[in-house]
Amino acid sequence: MEDCLFCKIAAGDIPSKKLYEDEQVVAFYDIAPQAKVHFLVIPKRHIPSAAALTEEDGALLGHVFAVIAKLAREQGLDNGYRVISNVGEDAGQTVKHLHFHVLGGEKLPV
Ligand code: AMP
Ligand code: ZN
Repeated sequence: MEDCLFCKIAAGDIPSKKLYEDEQVVAFYDIAPQAKVHFLVIPKRHIPSAAALTEEDGALLGHVFAVIAKLAREQGLDNGYRVISNVGEDAGQTVKHLHFHVLGGEKLPV
């Protein structure tokens, strides 16, 4: 999608510190980390937020969470981590392309 920051990152048109990429998803470090480890996992396909997901996206979501689990292991997040997806204004969603924050590496505030 034109004018979407994360579509541009997925396409490689805007640089990012990528941890992982395959045909469906990209993972990269958050530019303003909120924890010792903070990366984002996004589908390459433009989906505005979790509110736009349908039953047909089940396989994609399963893949996203399998990638998250693999990357969390690789990043040494054995003691746990948090996965967050903000939806809309009240949640503070600033980038309107579905993304999953993965936070860890330290005790996170409750
Ligand atoms: P949200 O507020 O849930 O929409 O999250 C958007 C996240 O994207 C924020 O945590 C930002 O720090 C992060 N972000 C914005 N621009 C970039 C970028 N160019 N590279 C990596 N992360 C970014
Ligand atoms: Zn997009």
